[in-house]
Parts: sequence; C-alpha cells; structure tokens
Amino acid sequence: IRSLVWLRDDLRLADNPALAAAVEAGGSAAVLHVHEEAAGLRPLGGAARWWLERSLASLGAGLKAAGVELLVETGDPRTIVPETVQRLGAGNVFWNRRYAPAARAVDAAIKAALRERGVAAVSHPGNVLAEPWTIRTGSGGAFQVFTPFARAVRQSPVAIPLPAPFGAPAERAAPLDAGQPGWMRKLEGHWSVGEAAARAALLRFLDEALDRYAEDRDRPSVSGTSALSPHLRFGEISARQVWHAAQAAVLDEPARGAAVEKFLSELIWRDFNHHQLHHRPDIAAVDMRDTFAGLEWRDDPPAFTAWTRGLTGIPVVDAGMRQLWETGWMHNRVRMLVASFLTKNLLLDWRLGERWFWDTLVDADAANNPGNWQWVAGCGMDAAPYFRIFNPLLQAARFDPDGAYVRRWVPELAALPDAWVHRPFEAPESVLAGAGVVLGQTYPRPIADIRASQRRARETFAALKSTD
Ligand code: FAD
Repeated sequence: IRSLVWLRDDLRLADNPALAAAVEAGGSAAVLHVHEEAAGLRPLGGAARWWLERSLASLGAGLKAAGVELLVETGDPRTIVPETVQRLGAGNVFWNRRYAPAARAVDAAIKAALRERGVAAVSHPGNVLAEPWTIRTGSGGAFQVFTPFARAVRQSPVAIPLPAPFGAPAERAAPLDAGQPGWMRKLEGHWSVGEAAARAALLRFLDEALDRYAEDRDRPSVSGTSALSPHLRFGEISARQVWHAAQAAVLDEPARGAAVEKFLSELIWRDFNHHQLHHRPDIAAVDMRDTFAGLEWRDDPPAFTAWTRGLTGIPVVDAGMRQLWETGWMHNRVRMLVASFLTKNLLLDWRLGERWFWDTLVDADAANNPGNWQWVAGCGMDAAPYFRIFNPLLQAARFDPDGAYVRRWVPELAALPDAWVHRPFEAPESVLAGAGVVLGQTYPRPIADIRASQRRARETFAALKSTD
C-alpha cells in the first residue's frame, strides 16, 4: 500500500482533496476512519453516531467498488494512525483538515510522529468554503461580525475553488441496526444516508425548493430548505460542491438570484461558525462574549425535562422538540424559538440546550451547534442583542399561520381552530372541549407565562448591564 487516506468528516469520493492526492501519488491506497477516543475530543452524540455508521457503510461500498479498502478502528488516533501506516507499509498519509483546536492538536501530534518515522503526512483543505486563515480583516485579525466576513469570503480570490471530480458516487447505505436504541431506529424512516443521498437531496432542493427559498425557508411546515445539514456535517457532500451547484442554478435561471444569494449566505454562516471554532479555545463551553458574566442561570430540572420532551405547554416549542426527537432534525426557525424559550423564558443555561441538541441532532456539529446556541442566547459573535427575546406565540402566528406544523407534531392539539392552536391556554372552555383538549390532562398548561418570563429576563439582563 502506497498511501493511507485518513477520512474524518469527509465521507465522500467526489471533491475529496485527500483522496485525489492519493490517486495522484499513484499505486494502491487504503482509507482509514477512526472512532476517536482521545482526551479533549468530544464524543459524538447518539443521533450523529447513528448517521455516521450508515455513512461509513455507504462510503465503504463506494470505495469497494473502486477497489479500495475502508478500515474502521476505534481508539486514540495518535496510536492507531501510525500503527496502521506501519502495518500497511504506507509511504504517504493524506487527510483533509478539521478546525476544532483539540482536533488540530491531535492532527499536529500525528504529523510530527509520522515525520519522525520518515512518513510524510499531508493535509488538505477541509469542508469549508474558505480556510480560516485566508479570511482576515484589514488589520490581519479574525472577523467578529458576519456581514464583512461574508463579503470577504465572496471577494477572496482564493476562496471557494471549483470542486475536483473524483470517482463515482457511493452506493446507498446498507441498513445496520444491531444494538440501536428504539428512538434511533425511528430515524431510519426519515433519512437516506451517504454520498448518493446527499447529491439527491441537493438536486431535490435545486429543482423543487430553491426558487421559493427566500420566503419558504422560514415556514416550518414546508420542505422549503435543503435538509443538507447532516450530509454537510459528515462531508458526504462538500460545501464547495453545494456552493457551485447553487451558483450554476442562477446561470440557468437569473430570476433565482435573490433566493440563491440567501442560500449562499447560509452556507457562509456555516463557515463563519467553523472559523470561530478555529480561532477560539472552546466554543461549546465558554461564552464567546462576556455578555452574561455574573449571570446566575436558573436551576430547574423539571422545566428542562419538560423542554426536552416537548411538554412545555407552548405548542410551537413542543412541536419543535418532538420533531427533533422523532427525526433527529429541527427546522431552523423553530431551533431559534426553542433555544430562546430555554435561555430567555426559562433562564436556563444555553449549554444545557446545546448538549441536548448535541445528542439528538443528526447534524450536530462542533461549530454550528454551539455557535448558534450562543447566537440565540446573546453571547455569540455578531449575536442578536442579548436583550432581544423571541416571543414564541407571535413567531408561531407569523411563520405557522395555519398551525400545520403544530398539528403535525402535537397531534393532541390538531382539532383546535387556527385561532387557538398556538395558544390553547387562552382558548375558551367550549373551544377546548370541542377539540377534545383538556389542559393539564391531554396537553400541559404552559410551564412559563410568556409575558412574565419575558419581563423577568429583561430585568435580569438590565441588572447585568448596570453592573458593567
Ligand atoms: P438550509 O436552509 O438549506 O441551509 C443550507 C446549509 O447552510 C445548511 O445545511 C447548513 O450547513 C448551513 N446553515 C443554514 N443555517 C445555518 C446557521 N444558522 N448556521 C450555520 N450554518 C447554517 N446547523 C448544523 O448544521 N448543525 C448544528 O448542530 C446546528 N445547531 C443549531 C442550533 C441552534 C440553536 C440553531 C438556532 C441553529 C442550529 N443550526 C445547526 C443551524 C441551522 O438550524 C441548520 O443548519 C439548518 O436548519 C439545517 O437545515 P437545512 O440543511 O435544510 O438548511
């Protein structure tokens, strides 16, 4: 074996710089994936592990068809990678970069160890549009604000190189369900995993949803977004491939310009979070801005449990949390609402919510998950001002006006008329009785009064400000 390719969050054949380098090096190659167990590396959550297993099965099938073996090992990559190199007698090692500080430290240690043995380890650009050190402010620092960051990404001459084609798309994943807890098995019905499925999701989006993306992306009852996030998370498709496919869609149909711009800007948000991850020590644990220094988050385990189970009594919040539990994914608008409800209305620490999402989202991502939680809480970079509080009732009326989303995920409220489906706790008794709803029995009463809890949050934040 001439080359070893170590794949991590880049489980695809096409546009894979490390694989392409191995092909260029000539001779035979093997591909390694390590379920990493090493100090400082955050273990994957349950839903992400579910996805990963299937994605590896799909990748393995695609590699096999190309005559390449996929080796899957578990343990500390600082031991496994050099041992595998030695066992195979490989002369080159290739991988695509990752950006979390702890993971970078692992990669650097392996590179140094291999160098000592005379083996060259060469790293290639990871799954971002632009590598973090190529996007700098005028004074050479990292951007703290999204809009100029986005401009710099778009203008950078080296940014977003055209993806290189390589090989054939992988086969659909073979189902592997041995030993999965029941709730994970439900995910099976909602997703197709792997490179071919990622490409199919992109094509569906370009054909069916892109034209209306600017309007429909905020309607949780509609499939108005790409649902590419878990595919991007595991690199079954690259951000560069998605970027260029969307750009090409404008060439086909210039009227799509505004929708495509909006979509590209979401992809740039993904880069923004990955760049923050690169520049900061631990964004899942430490507030990026010290907005909340001195704040005592409330301690309320029953409220947290009600939130996780979708039993808060606020229908849109419960719908989102149940969609997450059922499918491993939640619509972006609703992610914002449930996160705001937890951190503002319940005044519970954003880290609790981040960890719950980490375990239950199939797209749980070390950059986007903490980055967005901090953004909603108000301590993230370029965050909504920390004193801005989403009102979930007004938001629900605006983005789910006919209640279709709530009816789908909170079926016990399905028979309520549109006017009450988002606020059953204010509905007249006769309306509730007509819809078979008994508050406190068939559906909970709200665990927080929206107005009063909003006022409490505002007072709490005002007190912080005055101690600045
Ligand atoms: P589309 O609207 O089709 O967007 C295309 C792609 O752009 C997405 O697949 C994603 O890669 C990227 N993107 C879109 N919105 C954002 C955003 N706000 N920030 C960063 N990238 C974005 N996204 C994750 O990928 N992993 C997470 O763990 C994650 N956790 C989140 C937690 C909270 C509290 C919130 C509010 C948002 C979170 N997001 C996360 C961002 C966003 O909700 C998802 O990326 C999006 O809902 C995925 O659906 P989609 O692929 O259909 O998105």
